[in-house]
Amino acid sequence: MSEWTEAERFLLEQIRGGNAEAWSQLVQRYQGRLLAFARSRGVKGTDAEDLVQDTFLLLLRSLPDFRAQASLETYLFVILRRRVSDHFRGPGRADRAPESLEAREPSAALPASEQTGSWYAQRDERREAAKTALASAVGKLVSRMKEELNFRDLEIVEALFRAQLRNQAIAELTGVSEAQVALVKHRWIKQVRERVAQRVGPVGASGDDAALDSLLTEVWEDVRPGCPKRNTIGGYVLGTLDPPWHQYVESHIQRLGCAFCQANLKDLQEQTATDAAPLHRRILQSTVGFFRKS
Ligand SMILES: [Zn+2]
Repeated sequence: MSEWTEAERFLLEQIRGGNAEAWSQLVQRYQGRLLAFARSRGVKGTDAEDLVQDTFLLLLRSLPDFRAQASLETYLFVILRRRVSDHFRGPGRADRAPESLEAREPSAALPASEQTGSWYAQRDERREAAKTALASAVGKLVSRMKEELNFRDLEIVEALFRAQLRNQAIAELTGVSEAQVALVKHRWIKQVRERVAQRVGPVGASGDDAALDSLLTEVWEDVRPGCPKRNTIGGYVLGTLDPPWHQYVESHIQRLGCAFCQANLKDLQEQTATDAAPLHRRILQSTVGFFRKS
């Protein structure tokens, strides 16, 4: 989810302190899902491995002054996704991409909504504060929906803000009426507004709905609140989840097509079949300079 786990923080601290073994563990943990993601985006052969290697290098370079709202996994996926789009844009861009990515948060290069002059659309500290408050509100609301097994509403909200589908398409996808979709959306926006208002004061008149929608979509990309945890996806692979969770994960991955969770799924399915050691060695070799004591 949105916060870094204690384990991630610890690992990162160790790596900052020059612990090469901790780095090896981190690479081991994430390389498979990243490779699956690059391949799923159509990157062929060793190019996919190159991009995964770059992604780990960029993480190391951004470590000294790195603060992230999203999980480490999300941060890595966002770096890799940018490297993949640079890759398809041609050599000129790919060469200069690493510098521009350094020490940035995942959200930094996401397109901002149009400058409408509205509260939400301001590209300044208030906007960042609004995003932080939104991320927290969204995270809590989604957690509650999961606890209550309210997957129908969660699926609708995900379709609205992550997949950016229209009410009619969502109605067809989920089998509820369009009016019901509109109602869920209305309730959701109201709850989000209330929670954000508690933190940063009253926000946005009703005319700000479009700007709020676009900001919610950005937040959704940054923190991936609807994504099941990796071990939940593992349970899905093994068929050990309770039926409501099983259906939710299936819908999230298959029907709503979350590319990050698809990469996790593929990695989990192939884990035993593929030999991860060569790529692991290669990444460690490419990053050895960071851990060599000068
Ligand atoms: Zn996902």
